[in-house]
Amino acid sequence: MKSADDNPRTPLCTPWLGEPEIKAVNKVLQSGWVAQGPVTASFEKALAGFVGARHAVAVSSGTAALHLCLLALGIEPGDEVLVPSHSFVAVANVISYVGAVPVFVDIQPDTYNMDPTPLDQALTSKTRAVCPVHQVGLPVDLDPILAFAQAHRLKVYEDAACALGSEYKGRRIGSHSPLACFSFHPRKLITTGEGGMVTTDSDELAENLRVLRHQGMTVTAHERHRADDFKQVHFPVVGYNYRMTDIQSAIGLAQLERMDEILKRRNAIAARYEELLGPSPHLKLPVVPDYAFHNYQSYVVRLDPSAPIGRDQLVQRLMDKGIGAGAGVGCVHREAPYRNLVRVPLPHSEAATDHTFMLPLYPQMTDDQVQRVVEAVLTIAK
Ligand SMILES: *Cc1c(COP(=O)(O)O)cnc(C)c1O
Repeated sequence: MKSADDNPRTPLCTPWLGEPEIKAVNKVLQSGWVAQGPVTASFEKALAGFVGARHAVAVSSGTAALHLCLLALGIEPGDEVLVPSHSFVAVANVISYVGAVPVFVDIQPDTYNMDPTPLDQALTSKTRAVCPVHQVGLPVDLDPILAFAQAHRLKVYEDAACALGSEYKGRRIGSHSPLACFSFHPRKLITTGEGGMVTTDSDELAENLRVLRHQGMTVTAHERHRADDFKQVHFPVVGYNYRMTDIQSAIGLAQLERMDEILKRRNAIAARYEELLGPSPHLKLPVVPDYAFHNYQSYVVRLDPSAPIGRDQLVQRLMDKGIGAGAGVGCVHREAPYRNLVRVPLPHSEAATDHTFMLPLYPQMTDDQVQRVVEAVLTIAK
């Protein structure tokens, strides 16, 4: 048996943290203000600038961001929301939080993103909103979805949890529709431990989101703390504690500084995978349409039925070699809370879930590690 040192483990992904993040956190701790305050305001401003939106509202997770969007858009119990099943379960859970019903729609067989063509099959008199998801960071073809939403007077909010830095038609994801939600879970492009952000060009939606994340309160804790005069506080709506702390925001600001390098390195690794794995007849590599710049939050490969090995076995064999491979994105409609909600057929979603797998890809990954992953895949799927 080989020792761990002969064959160091290559994880699927690992956050890139170092001195800048540690220094930034120390500074916040020394300041004495550790809850949401001025550093979060700076992080919001920087992130809004990065994606090109007027406003960014920091929250405690990507899931919280999605939940607040549904509330800000006025989605109510019994309303229906069109959403892909081929995604992370949070996309449906947040719809359940507001008592609405997720109606699952199928994906395109090549991009694995929401297919705009069959959306009308899922439409009913109760449909109120549509949630395009930029799955694994690859932008969905937004324009046909936005046109469909406009034609049927549906609200739109984007799940951009994985899509920081990705571009649709030359513009970064974050202001193509009224609302876009980002996640800063360690599995995403940058991390704050846990955290999320909603970006919007609408002053009204931004204000609404700020009130909702803070118990429905009209004055922030930081404003009240700094005020010389007495401020009466009111809670005109039911809100949540979905605040991001300044400790998290300090990490986020330091991480944002790394974005150029992160995007470059992720794309370089993807290009290397494409060059070395592309010739294999058994593998179908990610498709990036002309309208998209991909941040490669994940590298999803499809195993052709002609391959001499099944997907699950392939992933297991890679894991045995110390390579943190994983199954592809799941289907929400296969999970217990959502099993009875299938209205329209989802063949492409199911096929993608059954036949795809993910390979390690993260900025600190070395060329040697990429080489080792490639050799392992080609040996196993020969
Ligand atoms: C990660 C993710 C979320 C949830 O983000 P959290 O910050 O973990 O709450 C939502 N949707 C998609 C598509 C995701 O990948």
